[in-house]
Amino acid sequence: MNPRKRADEGKLAPILLREISGLADPPLRFMEVCGTHTMSIFCSGIRSLLPEGIELISGPGCPVCVTPAGEIDRAIALSQLDGVTLVTFGDLMWVPGSSTSFHQEKAMGGDIRVVLSPLDAVEIAQEEHGRKVIFFAVGFETTSPAIAVAVKEARRRGLVNFYLLSSQRLIPPAMRALLSTGRVRIDGFILPGHVSVIIGRGPYLFIAREFGLPGVITGFEALDILEGIYMLLRQRREGRAEIEIQYRRAVKEEGNQRALEVMGEVFEPVDARWRGLGLIPESGLILREEFAGMDASRAFVIPCEDKADPPGCLCGEILQGLKSPPDCPLFGKRCTPEDPVGPCMVSSEGSCAAYYKYGGGQ
Ligand code: SF4
Ligand code: SF4
Repeated sequence: MNPRKRADEGKLAPILLREISGLADPPLRFMEVCGTHTMSIFCSGIRSLLPEGIELISGPGCPVCVTPAGEIDRAIALSQLDGVTLVTFGDLMWVPGSSTSFHQEKAMGGDIRVVLSPLDAVEIAQEEHGRKVIFFAVGFETTSPAIAVAVKEARRRGLVNFYLLSSQRLIPPAMRALLSTGRVRIDGFILPGHVSVIIGRGPYLFIAREFGLPGVITGFEALDILEGIYMLLRQRREGRAEIEIQYRRAVKEEGNQRALEVMGEVFEPVDARWRGLGLIPESGLILREEFAGMDASRAFVIPCEDKADPPGCLCGEILQGLKSPPDCPLFGKRCTPEDPVGPCMVSSEGSCAAYYKYGGGQ
């Protein structure tokens, strides 16, 4: 942290905390939808500073955690085919499928490679023209524009050995599904910063209009989060339910139009399955017909079965805000970051990993 920021926090944090105490009307439950918020809330100790009765709960905001085991199994099955190189982001390597993980498969000789950017997968396809290179794309709106650019680049280069296995998901339909179940009490949302840089404010308006709940698009520093909570409390005090932007330095009202255009050119929405939340209409992205030749789910025959979470694992409930990690009987015992049972303990954005690291797991 730079010294200037520390000085700002030193001055502003107590002011915001005083304002929060003045406005708080507990009991209140605010959900942070984003995994990076979960981590930031834990590592800054914000939970313990809030007035009693203000609870922060984690939602379905980590793309790795919400990918069902069956989809991981599918990608692993593809990696086992002759002549296939499977490429993906690093945080997926340790996520358990129903019987193995990419990491284990790689150790047993599978050609599985980690990239930092989707364009790296295109480079691999260009270099390895004797192999079929499948990019397993897991992510939210944050990464979809870059994946769309990679697909267009593979087309521009005339590559016939580049495929995409799309497991991308969209945040607003998942929030609608979560609210529609009515199973969890939520009094407001701390909305994700990075996703909102792309989509802007509009796609969240239904939260206020149809469900009467406030939301604040919030940045990732401790001060941002405190200000986001303050803005939520102020809305409640004033009897308003609106979607506001705290993270103005990065998020524009209309989002990033260029990124949205390229996403729309390459992908179209499709119903998708989420861990914990089940099948959600139009909450995933698949390649448009024009790019169907690159779609691994069409080009390869792969079995796709739904698999339950490992026995005892509560990831599904945790992703819906119904349970918290210490409620899981495996937490800190059978399930640790070194030997994870469920994805919420594997992912760097997972709430079990956050609780374990900062919240006193043994
Ligand atoms: S992609 Fe970005 S905004 Fe979305 S959950 Fe991850 S960190 Fe948060
Ligand atoms: S502690 Fe492990 S098994 Fe339990 S919910 Fe979290 S990730 Fe799943």
